Order: sequence, then structure tokens, then C-alpha cells
Amino acid sequence: MKYALVTGGSRGIGRAVCLKLARMGYHVLINYVSHAEEAEATLRMVHEAGREGEILKFDVSNRQQTTEALEAWMEAHPDAYIEVLVNNAGIRRDNLLVFMPEEDWHRVLDITLSGFYNVTQPLLQPMLVHKFGRIINMASVTGLKGMPGQANYAAAKGGIIAATKSLAQEVARKNVTVNAVAPGFIQTDMLEGLDEAALKKTIPANRFGTPEEVAELVGFLVSKEAGYITGNVISINGGLYT
Ligand code: NAP
Repeated sequence: MKYALVTGGSRGIGRAVCLKLARMGYHVLINYVSHAEEAEATLRMVHEAGREGEILKFDVSNRQQTTEALEAWMEAHPDAYIEVLVNNAGIRRDNLLVFMPEEDWHRVLDITLSGFYNVTQPLLQPMLVHKFGRIINMASVTGLKGMPGQANYAAAKGGIIAATKSLAQEVARKNVTVNAVAPGFIQTDMLEGLDEAALKKTIPANRFGTPEEVAELVGFLVSKEAGYITGNVISINGGLYT
């Protein structure tokens, strides 16, 4: 049995990634923090794809919660390890910096950056021991070029890109690859409230992307065939200038 963990697997891009990995033969661990019914829906879809899965509830920004959940899973599966990790959980709390509450600065950084540390650090050792692992970090076009109103999100996504490049160099010899995916505008709950018609005009492809398109890219990066790609950021943005 091959295991994959997707943080924020209950909705949007994370759900599509769970389904892609299930179709690739993985037993999928679906993490979420608050939308239990959405996580259940993802699990049902994994079952419909003919695979097993399970739900792991924890807040990736909470070190203790995350460690307890992962340690409990590892104790229950002493002969298994999680060979694929997709650090996908994320939020946005947009505001011009001049108006940005301290809480919104910290929450976005905590979930993306501390979340990356909290989840990746305990899962790394087993990947190194087994000499195979795939880590995909969900970044953003904003982490590459910045966006007004998103200084917190840009700092978090830029940080995750830098962490990706560093970690990739630490573990490449052990056949563990670490890459970031940088989506542009993808049709999910995260874009709620944005002016789609106006934004589409800024995208050469003249449309938002789909979660499934991002999941296909993640699927390739996870595959054995992508073993020589590491420390990279792959954009998927319909030609949006970066
Ligand atoms: P989404 O539909 O809003 O889903 C966010 C997911 O993250 C949900 O599953 C949510 O769980 C989970 N989550 C949020 N906070 C969490 C926490 N503290 N601990 C564990 N899980 C948590 O967002 P999305 O659009 O699919 O985005 C997924 C990733 O892609 C994010 O990292 C986002 O920054 C990135 N991204 C998205 C876009 C886009 O246009 N949509 C573009 C670039 C990058 P619950 O369901 O329990 O709330």
C-alpha cells in the first residue's frame, strides 16, 4: 500500500489532488480543519475511484495537533510510511498592508509557512530511510511576483518557494524530490468575492484554471518519471505574466 497525505484535501485544489492520487493507486489521507462534510465528500469520491482513504483532522498551523495526529497514524501503521506529501492547505486574508490587522498577517504565515514545517518535518525521516519521497508545496503566482493587497500571502508563498529550494538540496541524494506549484487563478472557494470577468481579461488564456488541471501537474511531479525534477517552481496560470 502506498500512502499520500494532502493537507487541505477537503475542498478545491486539495480535493482534486486527492482524487488524482487515488487514481494513481495511492491510499489517500485527507486532511482538513473545519469543513468535516466536505472532507467526507472527498473521501466518498476517493471510494468511487476504487481506492481507500481516511480523514485526518488537524490544523496545520498548530504544531501539537499536527504532531499528535501524524504520530498516532504512524503508530497505527508501523510498517508503512507516507511517501507523498502535498502541502496544500492555505488561506488568504487580503488587505492593503496599511490596513492589515496583525492577526491576518500571522494567520496566513502560520498556515502556509509553519504548516509546511509542522507537517513536513515529522514525515521527512521515513522518506529518507526508504530512499523515496515526493513533496509538493502549493505556492502561488503571488509568491513569484507579488500582488497589491496580498503582502501577507506573498510573503508566505515566497517563503514556501525558498523553503522548497533549500529542502530539495538537503534531500535530493535520498531520492526525495521537493517542488512547488504556483497556480494563477483557479476556480475554487478561495476566489469567492473576486470579479471574475475583470480578472479573466488579465489572463492570456481568458479563463480561470480548474483544480483538476493543477492536480494533473501534481500527479506528474509525484510520478517516478519526474525523479530528476527537484527544487523547482512550476507555474500553472494560463499565461499570466510572472
Ligand atoms: P480552498 O478551496 O479555500 O480550500 C482550502 C483548503 O485548505 C480547505 O481544504 C481547508 O480546509 C484547508 N485549510 C485551511 N486552513 C487550514 C488549516 N489551518 N489546517 C488544515 N487545513 C486547512 O482553497 P484552494 O483554492 O483549493 O487553495 C488550495 C491551495 O492553493 C492554497 O494553498 C492556496 O493558497 C493555493 N492557491 C490557490 C489559488 C486559487 O486561485 N484558488 C491560486 C494560487 C494558489 P477546510 O475545508 O476544513 O476549511
